[in-house]
Amino acid sequence: MSILANKKIQMVDLKSQYEKIKTEIDAGIQDVISNTAFINGPAVKEFQTNLEKYLNVKHVIPCANGTDALQIAMMALDLKPGDEVITASFTYVATAEVIGLLGLTPVLVDVYSDTFDIDVEAIEKAITPKTKAIVPVHLFGQCANMEKIMALAKKYNLFVIEDVAQAIGADYTFSNGTTVKAGTIGTIGCTSFFPSKNLGCYGDGGAMYTNDDELAKKLKMISHHGQSVQYVHDVLGVNSRLDTIQAVVLNAKLKHLDEYAVARNTVANYYDKAFANHPKLKTPVRVKNSTHVFHQYTLQLINVDRTKLREQLQEKGIPAMIYYPIPLHEQKAFKSDRYKSGDFPVTETLCKCVLSLPMHTEMDAESLKYITETLIDLLK
Ligand SMILES: *Cc1c(COP(=O)(O)O)cnc(C)c1O
Repeated sequence: MSILANKKIQMVDLKSQYEKIKTEIDAGIQDVISNTAFINGPAVKEFQTNLEKYLNVKHVIPCANGTDALQIAMMALDLKPGDEVITASFTYVATAEVIGLLGLTPVLVDVYSDTFDIDVEAIEKAITPKTKAIVPVHLFGQCANMEKIMALAKKYNLFVIEDVAQAIGADYTFSNGTTVKAGTIGTIGCTSFFPSKNLGCYGDGGAMYTNDDELAKKLKMISHHGQSVQYVHDVLGVNSRLDTIQAVVLNAKLKHLDEYAVARNTVANYYDKAFANHPKLKTPVRVKNSTHVFHQYTLQLINVDRTKLREQLQEKGIPAMIYYPIPLHEQKAFKSDRYKSGDFPVTETLCKCVLSLPMHTEMDAESLKYITETLIDLLK
């Protein structure tokens, strides 16, 4: 039996996090209801300004979710059917889904096994005259190699849309010493405020960032039915807004985002230390140029029956998740003559061996001790 008699270990503990900021959130939500300012209430504009300041970016355009953010970004860049967009084969489906949905051609490339990030040499090999954009994904909370990706984008005249859904708040440092926030490096950054993300609201939410004034106008217009002035529609758009209630939650949580990253790093450091040099566990590799905000703490298992281990952990009250079990090129939805099994060996291996452990801002020492000792014990 679990030694943690009264406590249930969770992948993410949003309830305990909420308890600490309950007063502010409850009052803010009540205020929205009292004023019936459900759509485009003052908290939305406030959040936009707060996030612009936090990220040091000229424009934040809130929208309904991270998937919409990616879609609107691609629409605003006037990408057209037949255009090729390069992204990673090892990512959440949303990244590639919107590419296909817009009739663009997703061109998948492999990732690095150490960092789970898109393989830059593979990007360059995949570039053709039809390539219009690269979508790096800052997977699990650490930035892809943006310096090299931006150099490629410049060389081949490509847009860069950063999928920063898992890495809001991470810092990227270029070799000249300049440090900027993830998502503010490429043409547009796209993020998600899904509840379990590092900056999560209490429903769906998302945002796009850019330093380009014209592009910002276009992103805003597209997310609002292509409207420039009320009832004047210049382009076909979508309806994608951040609810005022969600903006209230995000305003409250943004103030704590850096603390949250520290708490996540404390968990990661504990895991790293406990599993260091374990013959059956490979801990996540940190890169020099990026901070890590640990959206996930993802191990690679070496010669371990993952299904069995997961069941055993579950029996001991420890949840563990597989992000992601199936490579995109092996998903029916992305079936293409371009790819076959075996084309992205790193992705295919990762999908078989990754295991993400509980990671959140409210983890206590007792739980960490129990998780690490139990896992090590099960691997004996
Ligand atoms: C969560 C996520 C998205 C999509 O965000 P939603 O808000 O759920 O639409 C896109 N890309 C990545 C990498 C994600 O983790």
